[in-house]
Amino acid sequence: MTSEPSVTRVGINAIGRRHQERSRDGDTGILIEGASVRTANVTSERKRILTGIRPTGPLHLGHYAGALENWVKLQSEYDCYFLIADYQVSEYAHDLARVRNAVWEVTLDWLAAGLDPDSGSFVVESLVPEHAELTTWLAWVLPVGMLERNPTLKAEMEALEYPTGGKTKEKSVPVAFYIYPVMQVANILLPRANLVPVGADQLPHIELARETARRFNRAFKPIFPEPEALVGRVPRLVGTDGNAKMSKSRGNTIDLKDSAETVAKKVRTMYGGPPRRATEPGKVEENPIFAYLEAFDRDTARVRDLKEHYERKGVSNKELRNRLTSVLNELLEPMRQRRAKYEGNMPLVREALEHGTGRGRAIAKETMAMVRDALDLNYLR
Ligand code: ATP
Ligand code: MG
Repeated sequence: MTSEPSVTRVGINAIGRRHQERSRDGDTGILIEGASVRTANVTSERKRILTGIRPTGPLHLGHYAGALENWVKLQSEYDCYFLIADYQVSEYAHDLARVRNAVWEVTLDWLAAGLDPDSGSFVVESLVPEHAELTTWLAWVLPVGMLERNPTLKAEMEALEYPTGGKTKEKSVPVAFYIYPVMQVANILLPRANLVPVGADQLPHIELARETARRFNRAFKPIFPEPEALVGRVPRLVGTDGNAKMSKSRGNTIDLKDSAETVAKKVRTMYGGPPRRATEPGKVEENPIFAYLEAFDRDTARVRDLKEHYERKGVSNKELRNRLTSVLNELLEPMRQRRAKYEGNMPLVREALEHGTGRGRAIAKETMAMVRDALDLNYLR
């Protein structure tokens, strides 16, 4: 079978200390290359995680509850690769300035949410072109029918073609959009990941990755572990407009970087269920404010009481909104503070990307050597 990469805990911890020291004193010093943390004889037993996000805008509470929160928890246990998937933004090809800006936004959001770039690797997808190379090889073994049946891809393509929900097709789907799930499979298989923590909408893509790994391993050589999905505490967070999914393209988000005032305003104006007098009982499942309280209020007994009151004799939306505003601001305040600290030290943010991408590149080269060998592509040797 495959040999485990030799990234050591020792090496990573050493860099971790160094990074923390730097973040305290603001020294941006010399970069430690990814390769320098790899040593020959002390191998890590840690399993690998690959997960990612597209650089198309600031991250929101859906990203946090569905995915990011889990990443923060898992980062010390696993060897993590956090990917900024900038090959997969074909709908934004007309606005690459936005993508460029979002690479930094996403990195800042990750740091703000508590991801540690010394423990996990922040990888920019296009700076590791092996992602594109592996996509090409994997496309050999992935049948078109599996893409055609993929429910997430189908729904996203429809949203792209009929952006206003009408009957007339307004946009065409770029080929790159159609094959993004294949690229996502390559993202997962390139570091030979064991676990992929994602929101529920990504499950069909993980199934593709599992099937592709099986097919490749059977047809050529057993290189790839069959990755498992890990869905976060809140598989799909509703939008502030009551839509089934909080999503930046729908403009129904509360962003991790929103100020306390913006959060208060968004909560004040968010959809609060069908019209109802304050003293009139309502249905909890019809009011998205409760979905948010369930997702983010740590005082679960209080949420239970509120729900019970709401269904029995009614609770004003004003009271619910006030509670939600304070719950969210309590969650987001430490993130705002960490964000501000990093915003004041952008060289450190840059280093997180450069450093992580270096580590991503190292493992990518290792895997591609294995793939070339499995496919017997070394013609000139
Ligand atoms: P958006 O979905 O807002 O348009 P995106 O498509 O660019 O953003 P993805 O890269 O698809 O973002 O999502 C990143 C991760 O966040 C994925 O694991 C996805 O499942 C999760 N996620 C995104 N939105 C939600 C949500 N509303 N609830 C739960 N998880 C979510
Ligand atoms: Mg998405």
